[in-house]
Amino acid sequence: MKDISANDIKNNIPLVTRKDYKRVIKAGEYTFKPDKIAVIAGPCTVESKQQITDIARHIKDCGATMLRGGIFKPLTFPYGEPLGRPDAGSGQPEPDRLRILPKKELFKNAERRLAYMKEAGEKYGLPVVSEILYADSVGMMSKYVDMFQVGYRHMFNMDLIEALAACDKPVLIKRHYGESLRSLLGVGEHFEARGKHDIAFCERGVVVPHTHNVESRAVIDIQAIPALKEYAPTVPVLVDPSHATFKRSYVMPVARAAIAAGADGLLVEVHPDPEKAWVDPLQALNYKDCEKLIKEVAAIAKILGRSV
Ligand code: PEP
Ligand code: MN
Repeated sequence: MKDISANDIKNNIPLVTRKDYKRVIKAGEYTFKPDKIAVIAGPCTVESKQQITDIARHIKDCGATMLRGGIFKPLTFPYGEPLGRPDAGSGQPEPDRLRILPKKELFKNAERRLAYMKEAGEKYGLPVVSEILYADSVGMMSKYVDMFQVGYRHMFNMDLIEALAACDKPVLIKRHYGESLRSLLGVGEHFEARGKHDIAFCERGVVVPHTHNVESRAVIDIQAIPALKEYAPTVPVLVDPSHATFKRSYVMPVARAAIAAGADGLLVEVHPDPEKAWVDPLQALNYKDCEKLIKEVAAIAKILGRSV
């Protein structure tokens, strides 16, 4: 992997690395600021209107900043409904579990669940973040979300980059677990070169040989936080301890470390009954832990002159 050179900064990533640029990133009513820590919390998957409304209420009480919720899920396997269902990701792939919805149906279902999330967000004053998978869903999703998330699998998806660069909502770009900061900054530059400046980065772990086991999926590259802050000081850096660790008991300590290392925010999965979450039941925090996490993170942020 190449290091970032002086030539890169001059010729390949001149916009994303600007030092004196006044970058405005506004997700609904929330504006990213250097002295603020954004806590984006919510379920892996929006399962029902009641679920997302209940989560919104609780995370708001805990002091979270924004509501996250997966609608289009990039599931690892094709078995189980693409929208998630109780047994998604478990059991044997029986033929009748292969459920690939026609796109029209998928979008219709997604729009209904996006509306639940928007309503819940509005009710509790929480801007909404959701992952986008299909470039032709930007228009539809724009009606419901305040910030788009590009998952690690889509970091280099040019269709998504083109479509999102043309929309008026900020974009949270997740770094693929095998990609360098140089590449991530390159993706940022692809947006900037297209006139899209309201972007943020999200570190969600890198994979190293000893992490190829079920217990720990990836390792947060803690150095990526100060490194990105040095290279691109005006782009917020968030950390996702949920998808990196994939393990509930690791989420809180890693979240604390991320904030201590200078991260501008967190993306955390929260569920009322984590073990029963349709997707990613091993990592979601319950409400009590969410409250604890935000309290602890706020205390660390205070030492650094910041607040949640
Ligand atoms: C998510 O945040 O719901 C998600 C699937 O993230 P990632 O792209 O990091 O796996
Ligand atoms: Mn998840």
